[in-house]
Amino acid sequence: MRRRNVAVFLVASALGLVFGLVCFPPTHGIGLGKGFARDFSNVGLAIAALGAGAAMGVRASRAKGRQRLSWALLAASAASWGGGQTIWAIYESILGKQPFPSAADIGYLGEIPTIVAGLLLMPNLPSRAAGRLRVLTDGGLIAASLAMISWTFLLGEQLHTPADSRLAQVISIAYPIGDIVSASVALFVLSHAMRTRDVSPWVVLLITGGVVGFATSDSWFAVSNLHGTYYSGSPVDIGWFSAFLLLAVAGLHRSTGEASHSPAATRTATAFALVVPYAAVIAAITLTAAEVWIHHRLTMSQSVCALIIMILGAIRHVLATQVNQRLRRHLEARVQERTRELATSAARFTALVTHSSDVIFVLDPSGRVTYASPSVHEIFGLDTASLDDAPFARLLKLGEAALVLEEIAAAAGAPYSTRTLSFALRGGDGRWRQTETVVTSLVDDPAVQGLVLNCRDITERSELEAQLVHQAFHDVLTRLPNRALFRDRVAHALVAAPRHGASVAVLFLDLDGFKAVNDSLGHDAGDQLLLSAAQRFEHVVRPGDTVARLGGDEFAVLLEDVAGADEAGEVGQRLIEALAEPFVISGRPILVGGSVGVALAHALDGSSPGASMPTTEELLRNADLAMYRAKANGRGGIAHFEPGMHASLVARVQEEADLRAALEEGQLRLEYQPTYRLADGALTGVEALLRWDHPVRGLVPPNDFIPLAEQTGLIVPIGSWVLREACRQAVEWAADGRGAAGLTLAVNVSARQLQNDGFADIVAQCLRQTGLAPDRLVLELTESVLLEHDEVTVATLRAIRASGVRIAVDDFGTGYSSLSYLSRFPVDLLKVDRSFVDRLGDGESESSALARSIVQLGHSLALTTVAEGIEQPDQLRALQAMGCEYGQGFYFAKPVRPEEIAKMIAAPKAPPQGSAPASERALAL
Ligand code: C2E
Ligand code: MG
Ligand code: MG
Repeated sequence: MRRRNVAVFLVASALGLVFGLVCFPPTHGIGLGKGFARDFSNVGLAIAALGAGAAMGVRASRAKGRQRLSWALLAASAASWGGGQTIWAIYESILGKQPFPSAADIGYLGEIPTIVAGLLLMPNLPSRAAGRLRVLTDGGLIAASLAMISWTFLLGEQLHTPADSRLAQVISIAYPIGDIVSASVALFVLSHAMRTRDVSPWVVLLITGGVVGFATSDSWFAVSNLHGTYYSGSPVDIGWFSAFLLLAVAGLHRSTGEASHSPAATRTATAFALVVPYAAVIAAITLTAAEVWIHHRLTMSQSVCALIIMILGAIRHVLATQVNQRLRRHLEARVQERTRELATSAARFTALVTHSSDVIFVLDPSGRVTYASPSVHEIFGLDTASLDDAPFARLLKLGEAALVLEEIAAAAGAPYSTRTLSFALRGGDGRWRQTETVVTSLVDDPAVQGLVLNCRDITERSELEAQLVHQAFHDVLTRLPNRALFRDRVAHALVAAPRHGASVAVLFLDLDGFKAVNDSLGHDAGDQLLLSAAQRFEHVVRPGDTVARLGGDEFAVLLEDVAGADEAGEVGQRLIEALAEPFVISGRPILVGGSVGVALAHALDGSSPGASMPTTEELLRNADLAMYRAKANGRGGIAHFEPGMHASLVARVQEEADLRAALEEGQLRLEYQPTYRLADGALTGVEALLRWDHPVRGLVPPNDFIPLAEQTGLIVPIGSWVLREACRQAVEWAADGRGAAGLTLAVNVSARQLQNDGFADIVAQCLRQTGLAPDRLVLELTESVLLEHDEVTVATLRAIRASGVRIAVDDFGTGYSSLSYLSRFPVDLLKVDRSFVDRLGDGESESSALARSIVQLGHSLALTTVAEGIEQPDQLRALQAMGCEYGQGFYFAKPVRPEEIAKMIAAPKAPPQGSAPASERALAL
C-alpha cells in the first residue's frame, strides 16, 4: 500500500518536473521555443486535468455513500476544467485564436461549483448547533481572509478594468471570486476534516493542496492577464499542472488508516486544523497591511473584509470560550465522578479489610510490620499502634520463628510469588492462635513495597481436627486409646524393640461377670464400672505403658520394655488385683473379676535383628488366645501364650466349620432316653439327646461339641433343629396310636438359645407346626442359666411357660443355685444330678443326705423331681424311699434310636432288674 503511494508520488513528481522544465522561461531559449511550450502546456494541462478526473472517478467508483458522491463531484470538476482546456487548446494551438469569452470558459467555470460541492460533502458536519456554527465561522473567517487578499491584489483592480463586453466583465470577475470560494472551502474542509478524521489526512492535504494551488494559479493567471504578461506555457501553467497532479495523486492514494489514528497523529492534525483559519486571517492582514503601507490607501472593501473578519473572530472567540467552558464543566464533572468512585472504592476496601475475618499484615523485607489491618484487634486482640514497625517475629513461637522468617525472606526475593504457611501467633491475651497465612510478595509493587500476609485464625478448626483425630483413636467412654491406636502403638513398639534390646508384652484382659451387671443394673451402671475399672488399670501400670479399651469389657495393656514373661505376669496379676476391691456403683458394691492373657515378643541379641519378632497381628492374636485360655481355666486367672494354643485354635476353627457342615449335611441325629415313674415303673416320657455322626471321628458325644456350638452361636440353629425334630418324632410315635399319646418329651436348651429374642416364638411355632400339645413338652435348662440370668431370659421363660410348656432345671445341685433363684424362676421340675444318684445305695452317707434334701426341696416348692443316672437297683430303691417321683438311667435304658422307643411304646416290658429280688422288682415298678 505504502509502496504504491510512493510510486504514484514519484511518477507525479517526474511529470511535474518535465512540465516545469518545459514551461520554465529560461529553458525557452535552449531550442524548445515559446510556441512549443504553449502547445505542450495546452495539451499537458488538458491531459493532467482529465487524468486527475479519471483518477478521482476510479476512486469514486470504489467509495460508498457520501464519499462516493464527493469523489464523483471532484472528478467531474477536474473533467470539466479538462474539457475547457481541450477546447482552449484547439482554439489556440490549432486555430491560432484566443477568443474571450469562449466555450472554453464554460468548462473552466464549471469546475468551481462542482469542486465546492464535492469538498463540502467530504467530511461529516458536526451534529450540535454550536459545533456547526463554529465550523461555519471558521469557513467564514477563511473566506473573508481570502477575499481580502484577493480584493487587495486582484478583484479591486479587475472590477475597475474596462472589458469588451458585459459578459466578458462578469466572467473575468467570476474567476477570482470562484477561486476565493473554492480555496476557502478547501481550507475550511481541511481544518474540519483533519479534526473529524472522516478522511485520511494525507488525502485531505493533497486535495487541499490541489484546490488551493489551483485557485492560487488561477488568481496569478488573472493578475498576469490583467497586466498583459500571461501567455500559454508560462510558469502560471506549472501551478495548474501541479494542482491537477496533486488531485490525481489524491485520487490514486490508498490509505491504511492505521497510522493516521495514532494519538500523536491526531494531536498534530487537530493543531494543524486549528491553525488554518488563523493562518488565513494573519496572511490576509499582513498582506493587506503591506499593501496599505506601500500605497497609503485603505479601500472601503478592505475595511468591510476586515470588519467581517473581526466580527467572525469575535464570534469564534465566544464559541471557543463556550466550548472551553463546556469542556471545563465536563472535565470537572468527570473529576468529581472519578473522585467519588475512588472514595467509594477506598471506603469499600477499608470496610473489607476492617471487617474481614482475615488479618492483613504488610511487612517490609526485613520482617517489620508496616501495616496491620484493624481486624487484628478483633481477631488476635492486638493493638495496631503497638505493631507499628515492630518485628513480626515478636508474635511468633520461638521454635517456629526462624522457619517463618526464612519463608518470608524467600518470598521477598521472588516478587509476586505467593506461599501458604501455617504457624501460631500470640494474641493480645497471650494465648497462641493457630493461623493459616498466605504470603504474597508485593515488594516490587510501588503502592505496597512489602510482603502482604493474609492471616486466618484457624485455631478452632485445628482444635476440632485434633479432637476428631483424638476421637478416631480413643474410646469415648474411658478416653483410653482404642483398638486402632493400640494396634499402632504395638506396631511402633515392635519396630523399636530390637533397637533397644527390649521385649514387648501385650496383655488382654476381659472382665468376668460384666454382662450380668450391664443387664441387671443397666448400661449407665455398666459404663460407670468400665470407667472405674479403666482408672484402676491406669494406676497399676507404669507411666510409659499403654492401657487401651478394645471394646465391650475387653481391655489391653502394652508394656514396651519388659524383662520377660515374669514381669509381664506381675503386671497381669496387678490388673486382676485392681479388681479385687468391689466397685461401688449407684451406692451398691459390685464385684467383677478379670481374666488376663499375656503374649510376649522377645528382643533378640542383635545378631539377626527382628528375625523372629511376631507381627502386630500375631502378637495381638496370641494375647487373645492366652486370654481365652485364662477364661477357660476359670475366672480370675492369668494364662501365658504358648505356641500350642494356636494349634488348638486352628483345631477349633476346623471343628466349627465341621459342625456347621454337620447341620447342613444331616450328620446330626437324636437319640431318646426313656423316663420312668419310679412308683410303678411306667414309661412316662423321653429325653431327646443330640448325636453327631462325624464322617471321620465317628460318633461324637454332645459334651464334646455343644460347648463349641454355644461359643460360636451355632447352638441356636442346631437347637431349633433339635426342638423341631424331637417334636415331630413325638407326634409320629403318638400317631401309631400305641399308647405314646401321654408321653412327655424333654428337650435340652442352652442359655444362648434363650438369650435370643425370638426363642419363645420358635417354640410356639414348632408346637403349632408339629401339632404337639404344649403340656407334653419339657425344656431342660442347666443351673447356669438361672445364675447368669437376664431380663430377656426371664421374659422368654415366662412366655413359654404361659403357653403350657414346662421348665426343668437339669443337673440340679451342681451349679450352686440358691433357693431365691428357684422361687423367682418359672420352674416345674428338678432333675437331680447324676453325681448325687451315683453315691446312693451305700447306706446313709453325706451324698444321700444331699439327694434327700434336694428331693425335699422340690416337694416343698411343689416341683416334680426326676433323678438322673440311675444305674443300680439300690439307687432306685433309695430314690423311691426318698419320694423321688421319676427317674432315668442306664438301669432302665440307655439313650436309643427312635425306632427302639417306638418298640418300647408298642410292647412295654419291665426294665432289667439287676440283682434285685422279684418282690422288690414289683415294688420298684
Ligand atoms: P443331660 O441333659 O443331663 O443328659 C443326660 C446325660 O447323661 C446323657 O449324656 C445320657 O446319655 C447320660 N446318662 C443317662 N443315664 C445315665 C446313666 O445311668 N449313667 C451314665 N453314666 N450316664 C447316663 P449325653 O447324651 O452324652 O448328653 C450329655 C449332655 O449333653 C446332656 O446332659 C445335655 O446337657 C447335653 N445335651 C444332649 N443333647 C442336647 C441337646 O439337644 N441340646 C442341648 N443344649 N444339650 C444337649
Ligand atoms: Mg437333660
Ligand atoms: Mg442332666
